Amino acid sequence: MVSIVKKIKSFILPMRVTGKYMVKKPFTVMYPREKAVVKKRWRGLHELAFNKCVGCGLCRMACPNKCIDYIYPEGLDPRDKKNLKFRRPAIDWGHCIFCGLCVEACPTKAWYHTPRYKIYATSDSRLDLIRTPYELAVEEDKRKTYEDELSKIRDLMQTDLLEAAVGGEWEEIIKKLREKWRDLWYMKLDGKLDEKTWDEKAREIEKLVLDIIKQASLP
Ligand code: SF4
Ligand code: SF4
Repeated sequence: MVSIVKKIKSFILPMRVTGKYMVKKPFTVMYPREKAVVKKRWRGLHELAFNKCVGCGLCRMACPNKCIDYIYPEGLDPRDKKNLKFRRPAIDWGHCIFCGLCVEACPTKAWYHTPRYKIYATSDSRLDLIRTPYELAVEEDKRKTYEDELSKIRDLMQTDLLEAAVGGEWEEIIKKLREKWRDLWYMKLDGKLDEKTWDEKAREIEKLVLDIIKQASLP
């Protein structure tokens, strides 16, 4: 008898809970058919007010996951401290935990979270999860051409984000290629390499890096 009562109770109690939720509004949405309406304080994908950034470096220091690094405009020597103010942050959303610490740390309010949450990488490139400052400052979801990819690689060669994005056995190879690329870049900045040679040699390395990234990202 006791066991029958127990069985009935174990059936009715969960049904009561289910019944309560049947009359409540659902918390979930049928994504992607329906879009979730997020709260104001939602920490979505970042955007960068490019001109407000002063290159102070605080966002990188604040990031617990090391997913921010800086890119210098073409032609500026990163070894020269006077150029620090011109660098701008790139971000690796593949490693970001959307904690918001970078946004809080920014003294000029250059970073902010948007309500957007849709992020994906194309099947053959994890690079799509890294955004350069120029991409962060504009609308995302642009169609990329091969040339765009190469120019993104050129920007990211200045950062450590590339190695982290590729990971595993490729990390060391990318690191070495990046060091080679940097040496060339410094040679160009020091006037030891003419523009044309720099462009050819840099492009060779950038293509290699792009190939490795694609291989490394294949399932
Ligand atoms: S939101 Fe992302 S990029 Fe910003 S501090 Fe947190 S982990 Fe780093
Ligand atoms: S985004 Fe803000 S915290 Fe980051 S470098 Fe620019 S000014 Fe500094």
